[in-house]
Amino acid sequence: MQTSQPNQPVLLEYIQRGDKISCNEQQYKAAIATREFLLGPSDPATAKCYNGLGDLYIKLGRLEEAEEYLSRALQVRSSGPLFDAAVTRDNLGCIYEMKGDIQKAREMRITDEHVICGLYECASQRLYRLNEISRCSKCKCIFYCSAQCQRNDWPRHKAYCKSTGVI
Ligand SMILES: [Zn+2]
Ligand SMILES: [Zn+2]
Repeated sequence: MQTSQPNQPVLLEYIQRGDKISCNEQQYKAAIATREFLLGPSDPATAKCYNGLGDLYIKLGRLEEAEEYLSRALQVRSSGPLFDAAVTRDNLGCIYEMKGDIQKAREMRITDEHVICGLYECASQRLYRLNEISRCSKCKCIFYCSAQCQRNDWPRHKAYCKSTGVI
């Protein structure tokens, strides 16, 4: 009987696939299974895939699944680089916005005083301290690095933006 050895190049390809933005659900699931097997669920590379799949589920409107995978990602990322943690918290913030819980969205985003720009496509790709970035003046749950980013996000955010009385 032939013993089956893991095929390293194929496994690596699966791993790298999870980094691509255009992954579909099945590709993420395959990448996650491979990373969990080879690296474990607490590895940053596995967390990157959890985040990616969670992000995809947001776009598909599957919020419960999105929250599950993003929570897994945050568990790993909250003890890693601040930027990665802020990206995942911003994604979770989006879910709470969509669920109508502005308060929770704000608390999630400001957990460790570092946030990213709330415009998904923002090119700045950097971390901001709360005192160096502006926030939506009405709901105060989302942050923008420029007036342009706020304008560009408004068609999405306006559906969820509401005042909660927080100053
Ligand atoms: Zn921005
Ligand atoms: Zn707002």
